[in-house]
Amino acid sequence: MRRIAVLNQKGGVGKTTTTVNLAAALAMEGHRTMVIDLDPQAHATLHLGLLPGRSGPSLYEVLTQSRSLASVRRQVAPNLHVCGSHIDLAGAELELLGTVGREVILRDQLDADVDKFDYVLMDCPPSLSVLTLNALCAATEVFIPLQAHFLALHGLSKLLETVHLVSKRVNRDLKVGGIILCLYDTGTRHGAEIIEDLEGFFDSRRTKAAPWADAKLFQTRIRRNIRLAECPSFGQSIFQYAPSSRGAEDYASLASEIQGRAPAAIWEVAEDRPADAAADASAA
Ligand code: ADP
Ligand code: MG
Repeated sequence: MRRIAVLNQKGGVGKTTTTVNLAAALAMEGHRTMVIDLDPQAHATLHLGLLPGRSGPSLYEVLTQSRSLASVRRQVAPNLHVCGSHIDLAGAELELLGTVGREVILRDQLDADVDKFDYVLMDCPPSLSVLTLNALCAATEVFIPLQAHFLALHGLSKLLETVHLVSKRVNRDLKVGGIILCLYDTGTRHGAEIIEDLEGFFDSRRTKAAPWADAKLFQTRIRRNIRLAECPSFGQSIFQYAPSSRGAEDYASLASEIQGRAPAAIWEVAEDRPADAAADASAA
């Protein structure tokens, strides 16, 4: 079982979009996949077509009342299951203040889970709170979505420091699996500069013992694509909503790449596309 936390304490970088659509791609390939929505905003829950609260108990009850994951999990597509969030999760931090071992509740629940999954993807809130710590203690890998943006690296040191502390003190299995460039604008000079900065950033910090020693920048880039922004409001993944869009292409490629297969390498050929498509790269 691979347990992946999708984490960046910044909002709007593509965590939820990546969690949901990567999970959907893996499920379509036949892997048993579970999404755990740790964000009280419940965007992943909504994106997967569930109404927070209406579909019964949520991760809130798992973290604060010891309910099992199986009892709150819902199947939303073949091979795709979700443990939904609820706005009540926002209060979990305070409610758990006096609880011993509050960071490892999710890990213990995952270990005790009766069903086995090939992939567990955890969508984190935009903070380094007890909810995020639960994801980091339960995960074996961290994926960091970044927007290719001049402030992209800002906050990355803090994020890595947190991962480092968790790996040192609680979860020795934790590794940074890789960085995913999201909301990527093809063909811009700026994108290339960010990639260079990012590689430099990691190289200067790469020591053998660091949990990011083997972290890679995934070759797959998630291009800016309006279909990806539209599909959450329909409660559908990109593969249901717009299966031939660039968004679907990119997330299918990411799913291949994380399994060690070759990515689709479609990002460099954007200029070869018909002129109308090139005119608005995001419209496909
Ligand atoms: P986070 O979970 O990190 O806050 P989201 O995944 O919710 O980020 O993305 C932020 C916003 O950007 C959302 O409205 C989402 O629909 C949109 N978005 C994410 N990725 C893309 C993309 N590749 N192209 C276009 N819009 C995107
Ligand atoms: Mg989100």
